[in-house]
Amino acid sequence: MEVIEQVEALKAIVKALRCGGKRIGFVPTMGALHEGHLQLLRASARENDITVCSVFVNPTQFNNASDYKLYPRTLEQDIRLLQSVGCDYLFAPSAEEIYPQQSVLQFSFGALEAVMEGEHRPGHFNGVATVVSKLFHIVQPHKAYFGQKDLQQVAIVRQLVQALSFDLELVCYPTVREADGLAMSSRNKRLSEAQRQLAPQLYQALQMAASDLNEKPIETIKSEVAQLLQQSNEIRLEYFEIVDATTLQPLQDISGQEEVALCIAAFVGEVRLIDNMLVNLKEG
Ligand code: AMP
Repeated sequence: MEVIEQVEALKAIVKALRCGGKRIGFVPTMGALHEGHLQLLRASARENDITVCSVFVNPTQFNNASDYKLYPRTLEQDIRLLQSVGCDYLFAPSAEEIYPQQSVLQFSFGALEAVMEGEHRPGHFNGVATVVSKLFHIVQPHKAYFGQKDLQQVAIVRQLVQALSFDLELVCYPTVREADGLAMSSRNKRLSEAQRQLAPQLYQALQMAASDLNEKPIETIKSEVAQLLQQSNEIRLEYFEIVDATTLQPLQDISGQEEVALCIAAFVGEVRLIDNMLVNLKEG
């Protein structure tokens, strides 16, 4: 695997690969890789001739300076993991390489960014859209791989690809979880042992809500989720929403819905975690 730090160097490689008729799969990440990332990388290696992974902790998508500073950075270990799954190129640029000037670009995603992560992390999706656009231009992938763990991010990137006519296929894979249900996340590395024991409560709350969906009104389910998480004073719920699985707009009731998404964000100690679950209401 080749490690590339310069935009121009990667562009030259991509140009040669595309001239040679190679199909390129791309997995953008912020590093501190885990099985959730590796699933995407394996899929890319299976489905394309060449796999490119980027590891870039993107400053413009952090609305909290300490979250950016404390984000886990484990490049040496990431390189070993990438080699083990057959990645061909790691793009690991510096912040200066990606942003030679301060970015002033503004995106707007309408209703999609008015809720949940968009509402609670001002500027977050603007930073995501900026870096994803840049990376798509640099890597020029045929296929780009994302995780359902960041459900709203997938919807934003889908809208971006459509609105800007990026010539690529988006692929989304399900959330990979630890044995106790906790969604894998690079931020889990920041949890203390005690907090790590508590963190699966987010998933438990989603499971409880899913099993109550056909029995109870949404408002009741929401207050039960809040009550469950209130039992621990290390957990602070930021939001729990039941939304349309496509538009991600919050629902007042589920009648007539085919598929809904249950979405949660909570602080466990100082660490902000998110999770979600898709529920198909037409099944069974
Ligand atoms: P990140 O490094 O957290 O920015 O994530 C890079 C990509 O991996 C994103 O598309 C995420 O949605 C995806 N990802 C992160 N965690 C998981 C997980 N537990 N399961 C599936 N995909 C994930």
